[in-house]
Amino acid sequence: MDEKTKTELLTLFKNKLNRAMRYYLDTCTRCGVCTKACHAYASTGQVRYTSAYRHELVRRLYKKYFKLQGKVWPAAGEAKVLEDMTIKELYDAAYSCTGCRRCMVYCPFGIDTQMIMSIAKLLLVGASTEPELLTMLADMSIEKGKSMDVFKESFLTGIKKLEGQVVEKWRSEAGETVIPIDVDGADLLYVALAGAHSIIPAAAVFNAAGEHWTLSFFEAVNFGAFVGDPTRTTLILDRIISEAKRLKVKEVCICECGTAFRVMKHLTGPQPFKVSSITEVQARYIREGRIRLDKSIVSDTVTYHDPCQIARNGGIIDEARYILHHLTDNYTEMTKEPKYNWCCGGGGGLVAMGEETLDFRMTSSSIKADQVRKTGAKILSTACENCHTQLGDLNDHYKLGVDVKFLSSMVADALVR
Ligand code: SF4
Ligand code: SF4
Repeated sequence: MDEKTKTELLTLFKNKLNRAMRYYLDTCTRCGVCTKACHAYASTGQVRYTSAYRHELVRRLYKKYFKLQGKVWPAAGEAKVLEDMTIKELYDAAYSCTGCRRCMVYCPFGIDTQMIMSIAKLLLVGASTEPELLTMLADMSIEKGKSMDVFKESFLTGIKKLEGQVVEKWRSEAGETVIPIDVDGADLLYVALAGAHSIIPAAAVFNAAGEHWTLSFFEAVNFGAFVGDPTRTTLILDRIISEAKRLKVKEVCICECGTAFRVMKHLTGPQPFKVSSITEVQARYIREGRIRLDKSIVSDTVTYHDPCQIARNGGIIDEARYILHHLTDNYTEMTKEPKYNWCCGGGGGLVAMGEETLDFRMTSSSIKADQVRKTGAKILSTACENCHTQLGDLNDHYKLGVDVKFLSSMVADALVR
């Protein structure tokens, strides 16, 4: 690695060293409490997949370049030089961590491995060694934001074609637009994923609840966050913030996408609208009597996988149960305490990287497959696109024999007319 690159990477590293990050990097006592918390270690038994091993890689760089002891006596502080080999180790650590933060809830000091891995990801971006696909997808999202007029017509045509399927789930009222778009002064802006599955059920439920809503032009997923690039993350986020402000909506509702929800909820700063997940919004409709669900639609036993970014890291835990108890009397929990639930193994960009990560995703998540099997449930419900894909892959790989369903689709299918 040449000196210029090294200097640039160390500047990136330095810029991440706020108070919280220094605390995380200075505090680990290597007590090992978090060792078994990581699904990748629990599934494979390989030490390199423990939380402490991952952040030790970053910590050694920190000691070498930002702590006095590492600068004057590197051997004593186990300091490590930033070189090409280190970059490879950082890649392996960062792209085998899903950012689920299960280790964090076990750590007595609350050390946030996901935050520490954000340094690793940023260094990879700085060295142009991050997964190219994620950056390419992030750039496509940014480009879409810049050239709205180019794709607007095709977007509107595509959405129009979905209307019939929305009406099949819920009739539209006279004069009502089935999928409203660009509605100035709407109460709620719904930000979906690219794909009918993310739009049709949600639209049916909004219409059934009599919501004054509008569909965003932009997809919710933030590939900038997956790849750990703060600049791209912000540019992708800003498209939605600008749209919400332009339309003067009161609420931005994020579809079943854990990362999109976490980024919008926690990284937007104070805004003139509130941010909700679709699970929260649908639970609210039931509580307020705006929709009713028919319990006879679901006959098999149902269990629920808490998406890490929505439940453990987003606090949306009870709302999913509230909905599920209105959908069925045949619900079984996967774990006694949802905040300790196992990650599905697909977050942090791993699912988005597709086939490239499939083998690792399957071997590192056998513990999740075992957990699902033990419930005996026939329907495995979840509220995140990544989790849904990963659980579907686990279902095929481990022959779990479950039907993996989006919670919002189950709600739409059970609407009482
Ligand atoms: S539990 Fe916390 S302090 Fe202990 S090894 Fe893990 S990160 Fe370090
Ligand atoms: S954040 Fe999740 S995947 Fe990453 S080290 Fe912690 S438990 Fe493992």
